[in-house]
Amino acid sequence: MALNLIMLGPPGAGKGTQAARLAARHRIPHVSTGDILREAVQRGSEFGRAAQAVMASGHLVSDDIMVGIVRERLDRPDAQPGFVLDGFPRTVAQATALDGLMAGRDPLIVLEVAVEEDELRRRLLSRTICVDCGSSPTADPSIASCPQCGGRLVQRADDEERVIRERFAVYARDTRPLVDYYRVRPTFRAIDGRGPVADVTKALDAAIDALGPSPRARNAGSAT
Ligand code: AMP
Repeated sequence: MALNLIMLGPPGAGKGTQAARLAARHRIPHVSTGDILREAVQRGSEFGRAAQAVMASGHLVSDDIMVGIVRERLDRPDAQPGFVLDGFPRTVAQATALDGLMAGRDPLIVLEVAVEEDELRRRLLSRTICVDCGSSPTADPSIASCPQCGGRLVQRADDEERVIRERFAVYARDTRPLVDYYRVRPTFRAIDGRGPVADVTKALDAAIDALGPSPRARNAGSAT
């Protein structure tokens, strides 16, 4: 059985950090739509330039484009044993489309990482991102270069006070309703995202163990 995970939660809740840890631990790809868009921006394609303008404003890229990107990504062979989706879906239309893409696949496990807004704002204003590998070390001003690759750390262009305000408004209007959309499913869990990173990972893993296929069933699935 595949381990198909979605991480829900507001900007700064730690979805990216946790998704990367879960992906490594369960050997499934971490699919971050924000990272995919930032890579397109770095390549400087026409699409990248259009996406950059939308992201810089704190608004959302259109549902059609995002669903197309995710469909293509989840069809690749490495996502057949499962995936961790981070930053998608972000609207009810995207969630409905994802349910369509999941037809014939194992059920989604939906993990909401909950953190209150003051703490989110603090995290977003102090976090950095590596210009080379895109990883986002935990906010610690004493870390001058990327622990993964040694690259330079900068503030994310959209982690600026005015854009943060807009992203929270967009989250409340477009993405928060997804919690109600998924809450009614037996494969939904909300996790407290406030503690140390390792504690949050432990809580997420406990939820996955309770909800998901056993490691044995997963191995049996990938062997066939
Ligand atoms: P993130 O790294 O997930 O915070 O995403 C950064 C920005 O990329 C967002 O503020 C949006 O502008 C855009 N973005 C990422 N994922 C999506 C999505 N699923 N739908 C629409 N826009 C997205």
